[in-house]
Amino acid sequence: MSVLRRWLGFFRRVQQGAVAPKAGTGDDETSAKFKKKQQKLAALCREFGYDVGKVTLSPQTRAFDYLGQSFTSEGQSFPDGRIEIYCDPNMSDARLGCCLAHELQHVRYFAVRDAYRAERADGPLHRRFAKYAPELLAALRGVSNYSNEHWDAWKGDAPPKLFASELETGESEPINETIAEVAKAVYNWGPDVRINSLWKELHDTINEEYAALQQ
Ligand SMILES: [Zn+2]
Repeated sequence: MSVLRRWLGFFRRVQQGAVAPKAGTGDDETSAKFKKKQQKLAALCREFGYDVGKVTLSPQTRAFDYLGQSFTSEGQSFPDGRIEIYCDPNMSDARLGCCLAHELQHVRYFAVRDAYRAERADGPLHRRFAKYAPELLAALRGVSNYSNEHWDAWKGDAPPKLFASELETGESEPINETIAEVAKAVYNWGPDVRINSLWKELHDTINEEYAALQQ
């Protein structure tokens, strides 16, 4: 009875949010794991040469519904260069690196896309990227299951165009996501990764132009 009363008291305090995590509890372990992941993420940012202040680790996992199914997202990047990684405490350091490589590639894609849209239709970026025609990329499709899901989900009347607003036109981002998956594969397997050479070339070209924009 006294044990029961103690338990009831404990639960009441938990419900009121009055119990602070004690040493050795699961909460403590989780926050230690989280701190470790934060440090690893900062180290990875430095390795990638990216501003540590722009990348945050969020303790929330983020689920979203898509085509009637629930998915968990591992990260998100924003056009202003911010990146959020959604922490799963059991995420390995290798997976964290892959996730950051993928999100960072979106940031580079957005930056080159902005520069492309800001120039005239016969500008140097338009000329350099002209060969990556919609029909050509659509015939290749993606480089991973995840990117192919985006090709499958494409709802546009015509194939997606490089640097166009894919989400608005077709409700998915096959090109942007395929290039991010190339970055993930390159990070995971090294620069000699066996991946479609045209996608690899497009990924490399975007990164060259991104580097030029940073000068
Ligand atoms: Zn992505």
